Amino acid sequence: MTKFEIPPEHPRAESLHIREKLIENFHRKAVAEAGLIAHGRGEAFDYLLGETTTRHASDAIMTAASSLLTAERPVISVNGNTAALVPNEVVQLAEIARAKIEVNLFYRSLERELAIKELLAKAGAQELLGIGLEASAKISELGSERRHVDPRGILAADVVMVPLEDGDRTEALVNMGKKVIAIDLNPLSRTSQKATITIVDNVVRAMPRLVKAATELEGEKEVRRKILLNFDNTRNLAETITLIQQRLSSLAEKGRYLSLENESREF
Ligand code: ATP
Repeated sequence: MTKFEIPPEHPRAESLHIREKLIENFHRKAVAEAGLIAHGRGEAFDYLLGETTTRHASDAIMTAASSLLTAERPVISVNGNTAALVPNEVVQLAEIARAKIEVNLFYRSLERELAIKELLAKAGAQELLGIGLEASAKISELGSERRHVDPRGILAADVVMVPLEDGDRTEALVNMGKKVIAIDLNPLSRTSQKATITIVDNVVRAMPRLVKAATELEGEKEVRRKILLNFDNTRNLAETITLIQQRLSSLAEKGRYLSLENESREF
């Protein structure tokens, strides 16, 4: 379905591949129009982070894995972008953490839910909650379509992981007493600010690392307890923002930091 070949040496090849995947799944109805725009907002922050998983993100990933493994009723909430970009990792993480997977959409339609179900089924998911009338419970303080939740999933969950979320629902879930794990490239978004554990990273980098962390921490109850005890989300966010600030300051000193190949040094 890829419309054009992306040369492997292209400096932004990986980013372009991700875009192609989203566009492809937009045409398959899994990704919403707004999902394409939301991705662009994320990409802008990824530039500022240097398109890398910071050590603060790594700490949050270890904490998130500990939280999911320690939870009694963990749920991974999935939207179109997540299903398009990291379906295999969602299924793998759910298996390791014994978590349920629930589809929850801002732009909800049965067509999109079924397109997402197909993506996850292809990745090996046995069960997907929240489809159609199965999302029969409501989060009363939410006005958007995201208020519809599955009584066997998000409604009953103690820990909800919400990659690529909107701030309203994060806040509502936290107010319901749930621990919320967010993955969001923007440390300033309401989601990042309101979540219990915020992983400021690209979902395509964070999810494989989460699977690895969960595999390593399975059976390590005491290690997980210590990780959870030592983590402070506000401090982690502050350090991430400081890191961006320092990176920008250092780039600002250089001004133009990319040089052209045949750049003439004489004026
Ligand atoms: P909020 O309601 O939390 O303030 P928002 O309105 O800024 O969020 P949305 O448009 O709901 O944001 O969702 C986009 C969010 O998802 C952005 O914060 C963006 O940084 C993040 N995002 C988009 N793509 C990715 C990605 N691949 N990995 C991680 N985060 C991403």
